Amino acid sequence: MADTECSTVKTTCPYCGVGCGISVSKDTEAGFKISGDMAHPANKGLLCSKGAALADTLGRKGRLLAPEINRKSVEWETALNKIATGFQEIIDIYGPDAVAFYVSGQLLTEDYYVANKLMKGFIGAANIDTNSRLCMSSSVAGHKRAFGSDTVPGCYEDLELADLVVLTGSNAAWCHPVLYQRLVAAKTTRPNMKVIVIDPRQTATSDCADLHLPIKPGTDAVLFNGLLTHLKKQQKFDDHFTNKFCDGLDATVATAEATAPNVEFVANVCCLDAKDVLEFYAYFEKTEKAMTLYSQGINQSSSGTDKVNSILNCHLVTGRIGRPGMGPFSLTGQPNAMGGREVGGLANQLAAHMEIDNSDHRELVQKFWQSPTIACKPGLAAVDLFDAVYAGDVKAIWIMGTNPAVSMPNNSRVRQALKKCKMVVVSDCEQNTDTADFADVLLPALAWGEKDGTVTNSERRISRQRPFVPAPRNAKPDWWIISEVAKRLGHVSAFKYQSSAEIFREHALLSGHQNNATRDFDISSLSTLTQSEYDDLAPIQWPVTDEQPKGTARLLGTGAFFTPGKKAVLVPVSPQPPEHLPTPEYPLILNTGRIRDQWHTMTRTGKSGILSAHRPEPYAEIHPIDAKLSKIRDRELITLETLWGKMVARATISPYQKQGSIFVPIHWNDQYASNGLVDALVSPATDPISKQPEFKYTPVAIRRFATT
Ligand code: SF4
Repeated sequence: MADTECSTVKTTCPYCGVGCGISVSKDTEAGFKISGDMAHPANKGLLCSKGAALADTLGRKGRLLAPEINRKSVEWETALNKIATGFQEIIDIYGPDAVAFYVSGQLLTEDYYVANKLMKGFIGAANIDTNSRLCMSSSVAGHKRAFGSDTVPGCYEDLELADLVVLTGSNAAWCHPVLYQRLVAAKTTRPNMKVIVIDPRQTATSDCADLHLPIKPGTDAVLFNGLLTHLKKQQKFDDHFTNKFCDGLDATVATAEATAPNVEFVANVCCLDAKDVLEFYAYFEKTEKAMTLYSQGINQSSSGTDKVNSILNCHLVTGRIGRPGMGPFSLTGQPNAMGGREVGGLANQLAAHMEIDNSDHRELVQKFWQSPTIACKPGLAAVDLFDAVYAGDVKAIWIMGTNPAVSMPNNSRVRQALKKCKMVVVSDCEQNTDTADFADVLLPALAWGEKDGTVTNSERRISRQRPFVPAPRNAKPDWWIISEVAKRLGHVSAFKYQSSAEIFREHALLSGHQNNATRDFDISSLSTLTQSEYDDLAPIQWPVTDEQPKGTARLLGTGAFFTPGKKAVLVPVSPQPPEHLPTPEYPLILNTGRIRDQWHTMTRTGKSGILSAHRPEPYAEIHPIDAKLSKIRDRELITLETLWGKMVARATISPYQKQGSIFVPIHWNDQYASNGLVDALVSPATDPISKQPEFKYTPVAIRRFATT
């Protein structure tokens, strides 16, 4: 909302899934003053380094200012006609599965909704997938298996109410910094609160840990199966909860006991000290208010969905879910990964948490959209999608607000695919992304500060992104661009939107049309918002219903699950090794992740001198013993090589790194790194259920650059 007296605009940070509220005011000397919104429940005035430096990323430098065809400026009409004609020709000859959209957790919910509607309801294929596939699809799949719905049960406040917080596969101090700040503050005021960090590396997050478990990469499911076995032995199951609200207990316990029979076995497999494993289990056993936060270290695995379920199982058998201070909690990577899930932005979803492979859902959505068709089978998930482009099966792709030429695993192949593709459309606010280099048509989209719509954070909280700077004359909202192409494909009445508020109302109305079995996501009472009510919408957690008009902080605690039988499903988990294991030729493990002061592929944070000073160049963190074995000295250049690619980086020798494992950040793009990008090295292996790639485990060889 705009406060006219002090000219303050309240909006939401465009980076991580914490979804911090931002107050922006005009500063006559320095442009804009950015500060944390004291009234926003996610951050209560706090900001991290990236949020605080947002003003550095504003301005026209590097902006795409006009539509381009083959890098020549054209009128919008020409560009839109070219896309519509190109897509239609391909659909006419090869069918709707020959075209695809690859979208982004950076899009606003309204943009996402319109893109999904066009592809699934009007083109009639489900080939729309998102870069959120790379960061949280294993959580989505795990939630759906256990709860029958993609429901995050708790909220951020639970962190502050918990007596035990377990962080596993999460360097929250760098990747979700404001949540980490809230955790540290809570621990300071509540000395009995315990924090346990499970991570192969000793990261900044470990600084607040009472116990750090430097687990062997890939063995997480054994550790959590062992916890389940331990809880059973100690008779710590909540029998009332499991009897009344859970299915699958016996098989799940039997599998856990068979695969993780005791503490010594677990310690041996996970390369941990048995005393530490027992300490973790004992804390969990005796602490009713226990939270388990997990992120990419769990999700980005070829058995990520099973790992998620191994965590959910432990919370379900103890009934510790959806009540204050307890529950499993998936930390979402992107600002609107959750909003994308709401509207069906993954290739296996429909809209409003409905399913493509459910004929009732298809009928309902098609009727609501009054669409001529509806996708009747799941489309291609990210890795498969670019493989299909490479194979020539997908002949036109429209990439919106993301940079897969850097961020996809095995990205040399992705680049080859884009080079071969008959038609590549890229809409972005930046002129020179690595992916834009492959575009036949480039479209200037609005940037943060110009966009108007909503995003949903990791705790299901919908917040407004509001504009506070005038957009360049030719830059347009993503929803407008998609709608204009839809109209040129012949779908005029279904895409005659005039505002993001209008799209939000339609999205909210559809959420109220679900049948009861799937109705976790319901914001239908927001479907009548006027323009000014939408403009003033305060952050609110879904579901928002007539019974819960102020939103809902917690779900599932009363045992109301969304499976057909209304019970949670305990999933037997047989731990699997990573798809590719080290060999004598590639003896180490490449682990990738984020650093504190950069975001994704640096197209925006790279503009900030302050942020770039934190880590100015690509580096590889190596344990001293591995460095010694390879005769590598600190700060010298090294070559990293896998079956998929090669890069050069600066060696950083660190005792905080797990021996046998190398950590390389994901961020540097072609503009900032001239000797290879780390995701070109990453294995394209994916989880068979979630299709999330295994960014955390690729066998790698290292050697001194001088000797190559
Ligand atoms: Fe933005 Fe995340 Fe930092 Fe909050 S924690 S300011 S949402 S990057």
